This record gives sequence, C-alpha cells and structure tokens, in this order.
Amino acid sequence: MSTSITASMLYNLVQCPHRLSLDLHEDPAKRDPESKFVKLLWEKGTAFEQEVIQNLALPFTDLSTKPSDERERLTSEAMAREDELIYAGRIRTDNLLGDPDLLRRQGNGYVAGDIKSGAGEEGASDVSDGKPKKHYAVQLSLYTDILEQIEISAGRFPFIWDIHGQEVVYNLDAPQGPRTPETLWHVYESTLQFASKILSQPALTLPALGGTCKLCHWHTLCEVRLNKIGDLSLIPALGRAKRDAMIDHVKTISQLAHTDITAMITGSKTVIPGIGPATLKKFQDRALLLVDPKARPYLKTKLRFPSAKVELFFDIETDPMRDICYLHGFVERIDQDSSTERYIPFLADTPSAEAEREAFSKAYAYVQSSQPCILYFYSKYERTWWRKLRERYTDVATEEQIEAMFDPETAVDLYYDVVVRHSEWPTNDHSIKTLASYLGFKWRDTSPSGAESIEWYYRWIETADPKIRQRILEYNEDDCLATRVLLDGIRTLNVR
Ligand code: SF4
Repeated sequence: MSTSITASMLYNLVQCPHRLSLDLHEDPAKRDPESKFVKLLWEKGTAFEQEVIQNLALPFTDLSTKPSDERERLTSEAMAREDELIYAGRIRTDNLLGDPDLLRRQGNGYVAGDIKSGAGEEGASDVSDGKPKKHYAVQLSLYTDILEQIEISAGRFPFIWDIHGQEVVYNLDAPQGPRTPETLWHVYESTLQFASKILSQPALTLPALGGTCKLCHWHTLCEVRLNKIGDLSLIPALGRAKRDAMIDHVKTISQLAHTDITAMITGSKTVIPGIGPATLKKFQDRALLLVDPKARPYLKTKLRFPSAKVELFFDIETDPMRDICYLHGFVERIDQDSSTERYIPFLADTPSAEAEREAFSKAYAYVQSSQPCILYFYSKYERTWWRKLRERYTDVATEEQIEAMFDPETAVDLYYDVVVRHSEWPTNDHSIKTLASYLGFKWRDTSPSGAESIEWYYRWIETADPKIRQRILEYNEDDCLATRVLLDGIRTLNVR
C-alpha cells in the first residue's frame, strides 16, 4: 500500500519542506536524539488533551483506547449512528489519513477539530492577532477534505479547542486578509500537492538554516550538509525563501562573495525577484565576511550609547505552555567596571499568577530603585512581556511607567537597534549565543538554551531540587552577562 499523507506530515511541511523529505526518505539513525524540551512539549500536549477530555461535560464516543486498525471502522460506525461527538477517531481516503482529536456532528454531517496546548491563532500566546495558524489550518483542511470525499462533511469550518479553553473556528474558504485573497483551502491544496511530490521525489528539497532548525531532529545532519555546500542560507537573515529565489543566479556563499553583482542590477531592481540592490549588496558583504578567515565584525555607523553610572543587563525566562514569565534577571554594573557586577534575579517560585505577579512587581521596583540607569536587553521580547504583565497586573505599574522604562533614551535593544541596523559579523546568525560566543564568552551550562531552561523549570517545580534551581539562575545570569560582553565588544568595533 502506498504511504498516505497525514495531518502531521503537512504540519511538518509547513515548518520546513526538507524536514518532511528527511522524515520520509532518510535513515532514521541519522536523527539527533529528541531534545528534552521537545519531549516535554509532547508530554504537556498529551496531558492537556486528556485534561480537556476528562472535563468534557458533553457525552462523547471515546475511541482513544481502541487499536489503530479498529479505530477507522469504529469511527465509520459511530458516524453512521450519528454520534454527537467522537474522540480519537480515524478517517481515510485512498491517499489521505486523518486522526482528528474530535469529530462533531453538525447538521447532517461532521466537522473535525483538534485540541491544542497553544493559542488557536497567531500572535503572542494570550493576545491573538486573529490570524489563523497555517500549520493548524493544513491539518484541519486535510480532515475536512477526507470528510468531503467520504461525503459526510458539514462544511469547511473545522475548529481548534485551544489552551485558553476557547473554540477557534477556521473558515477555510475565507480570504486570509484584505491583501491576501488566497484562502486557507488554497494553501492546503498547494501544500498537499507539494507533499505528494516530496513523497515520490526524495531529492526535491534542500535544507535551509532557519529558526525551526534548533528543535529539529535533523539539525546536525543539515548543518553538516549546509556547511559542506556553503549554502546561502548560512548568511544571517537570508533564509529559505531568499535562498530559493537566488539559487538560479548564485548558489553558494563563495560565489556570492566573488560575483560582480553590478551585472545583476538594473536601476532600482536586481534580476532576483523580491531582492533589491541594497539587500543584495548587504548579503554580499556578509558573504565576504564568511569567506575571509581573518574577517572581523564592524560597525556601519558610529554609535553613541546613552551614559549613566548604573547599567542593567536584563533578560527574562518564560514558559509558553503555561504562558507565564517565571524569571526576571539583571546583571548590574557600576561605572562600566565589570568587577562591580552583581546578579539580581526575581524568580517565581511556583508557576502561579500570584508568584508571577510578585516576581514582576519586585523586578519593577528594583529597576525603579536603580534609577538613573541604562537598561540593555536583546530583542523586543522583554518589552513585549513587560507590557503584557502590566496588563495582567495593573496595580504594579501604569502603562506610562512601563513605556518610560523602555524609552530609547535610557533603554537599548542591542539586537534590533544596534546589531541588526548598525553592525556586521562573520557569523551565520545574530543570536546572542552566537555573537557572545564569537567574542569569547562561555556559558557555564554545556547545553544552554531557552528551551532547556523551560524544561529545567518544569523539573524544578516537580522536584524542588535546589541544583536545578541553581542551573536556571546560572543560565539566566549568563544570558545577562553575555549581553554585557556583547555591548563591550560592540564598543570596540571599528567603523567601516
Ligand atoms: S534542520 Fe532545519 S533545514 Fe534541516 S530538516 Fe530540520 S528544519 Fe529543515
């Protein structure tokens, strides 16, 4: 029997087409071990689904304990009986296989739904921006397609039951927005077509370095391949889409570094769709840095940082599954003298609203008591979370007070306002880990990452092991110190 296309295949394809290809055609022994964080995500997802099901007030048909090969028949029988709600059913056509968490009777047919331990739409975890998630949409569309083909669909409006207890309906036939007339159903059709091609052509896709690689079990394999071919996606911020657009004209970092790009430019355009002359020049500059073993980072403009006696290097840790901010860490330095440094953490000892509020309140009071000071952080993430926390705990600070704290006169986002806009580095990305490591900083932990830290927090809450608590704090302290190392490194860069 030929391989059926499943919802999880489409989910993975939306994240990265090469991942689907490797999952289907590569030797599984070449995978990295699944990270503890990914395992935790699975466990929490399953636990959340079970909690939702156990608390269901509605009567439902539960097929979750039935063997896989029986679930399909039992689902057909349940739908023929017109059961109101079927949990863990299985539906199939010739080439599609669906395991929707829920099938709900609606009118004369069924709609499918999934239970997700995340927000039902795009946007910050508790502030939806109202856009559907494409990776959810293709899964729901596949179930709907099967229901249509077996002539029992109630319509193209499947649903997600999300982490906030809300039902989010996906209207698959609606345009995605005023500027995007393409419907989610169109997205599904093209994704399905692509999946069919990947299924039959193992060499169709290429790896590309991107944000999804970090947690992917093919990371090591892809990294080796990308470096071997000198793939363009190893240039910071270039990514898969631009690499694919460029590949007919220039294939490798070395080629780009040594190409006369003026031949590719006519007026305000280049021969590469979607890439203008300035962007092409920027990527060539980055390629030149990567091919030169003696290359050094540099500034593109002279910078002047605000001055104050006290500098605070700030980093937070958050748990997206519980949607809480559990740690605010600061490294405080006086007069730019690193021997004065001290680390001040505010940790939520339990994953509760009270503990989150207390940590936030104390962190805010600490920043106020340190005034006048300059606050340094890496990316808008801290500001976004502090705005969110203020909305949650309106008694801690006013909107004006939080905005004043992040005033660009006294608060510097080293990532967006400095690194991205005004500097170039001979590295493959601009993450704090990469740049501080480039400058010689070493994290005390052997596997430092925000994802790992979340896993430690879960384990510390479960076990109260003080060693895990210490690991969480040291990791956060090192992130703050790395921000300081980066600032000091940037201060020494030459302007080109
Ligand atoms: S490591 Fe990256 S490029 Fe490779 S399969 Fe995974 S997500 Fe895709």
